[in-house]
Amino acid sequence: MKVAVIGAGASGLFAAAALKRSGADFMLFEREKRAGKKLLATGNGRCNLSNKNVSVSRYHGEADFSESALNRYGTNSLISFMESVGVPCVFEGEKLFPRSLQASSVLDMLRFAEGESEICETEVKKICRNGKAFDVYTEKGIYRADKVIVCCGGKAAKHLSGGGAYTLLTDLGHTLTPLKPAIVQLKCAGTKALDGVKINAAASLDGKTETGEVLFTSYGLSGPPILQLSREAKGKTICIDLMPELNFAEITEMLKNKKTLKYLTAENLFNGIINKKLGRELLRVSGITPFSKNIGEISDKEIKSLAAIVKNLKFEITDTNGFDNAQVTAGGIKCSGFNPQTMESKLVPGLYAVGEVLNIDGDCGGFNLQWAYSSAMSAVQSIIKK
Ligand SMILES: Cc1cc2nc3c(=O)[nH]c(=O)nc-3n(C[C@H](O)[C@H](O)[C@H](O)COP(=O)(O)OP(=O)(O)OC[C@H]3O[C@@H](n4cnc5c(N)ncnc54)[C@H](O)[C@@H]3O)c2cc1C
Repeated sequence: MKVAVIGAGASGLFAAAALKRSGADFMLFEREKRAGKKLLATGNGRCNLSNKNVSVSRYHGEADFSESALNRYGTNSLISFMESVGVPCVFEGEKLFPRSLQASSVLDMLRFAEGESEICETEVKKICRNGKAFDVYTEKGIYRADKVIVCCGGKAAKHLSGGGAYTLLTDLGHTLTPLKPAIVQLKCAGTKALDGVKINAAASLDGKTETGEVLFTSYGLSGPPILQLSREAKGKTICIDLMPELNFAEITEMLKNKKTLKYLTAENLFNGIINKKLGRELLRVSGITPFSKNIGEISDKEIKSLAAIVKNLKFEITDTNGFDNAQVTAGGIKCSGFNPQTMESKLVPGLYAVGEVLNIDGDCGGFNLQWAYSSAMSAVQSIIKK
């Protein structure tokens, strides 16, 4: 039995390494010059492999479809697998990393484990049924396979993985859902003057709050809490609490105390309390003018309004920063066309799809590489059993 694995990204390399171990005969196709380009960029080059909190609730799209694979091949399974290919793992907080903290070492070890067998610079153009087998069409020729695992990833970060190959599956009758960028920076007005400012804050959207370092840029917002909320943010308002550790009364008190320094101008109200650029922006948003007036002239009402803005600075999100800057694709090939236990197509027996190409995306924090692993293992185990 010959297996064609299409795409030598995260899920393709996991699948190939597991196939190699089982002694299966397989071919691994990759359209880029080298395998695992995106893997190298993961976790800022450190490769955040998984998370202590893996559960269906951290996935989106047809999330329920992921349950079986995540239960059978979850974080512990991934840790054992990585250990078995020579990469012990460590947790940093809730996130799992290779002990080396180097994505390149994960790529090296997966490639050694799969036998460095990838056929690079070979784009698969088409997959056609040929009796019970498949013909895999590439510019270098047609390859015959008994089983095909499509591991072509999504539309995100085209420079790292070519931007998807959904037609391989839609040509065989599968359906593609609408696609949108996720885990991505957000565009909004009102941040130009704050370009480069970073602050530990709590960002909220639709009743969901994420804390961490928020980064203001010339075009909008970035940083882990923003990326985490980005999936549903377009056209909505993100509220940022700039001092989550203090309540409204405590901030009001702190600002009132500052007002007693009568030698200061209004402009200096936030100086020493919060980033200067941000302080000026807060004064501007609350309409306190002129900045040159004496600090004592700021009324108690104005102080309360400033404290309220500190707790709830609002940004209308006009757009995301697009697929090219996104870490994952929300949407993909409809999972309902596949068996959740095996990842095998219900329409075309012998055809499998795993990883980001499917209509499943995880939160930021290792959930997407975990899905690449769990789905790849489900497919490989099913093929090996057969
Ligand atoms: C900058 C960045 C950082 C990230 N960090 C993390 C992180 O730390 N943790 C985490 O969990 N997730 C992270 N992700 C997301 C994660 O990398 C992806 O979800 C994951 O790589 C998806 O795996 P995949 O195998 O489905 O697709 P990919 O890894 O994208 O692999 C698909 C492969 O298929 C190849 N291919 C596509 N079409 C064809 C074709 N027709 N013929 C041949 N080859 C083809 C592509 O070139 C590519 O190599 C990050 C993403 C980015 C962009």
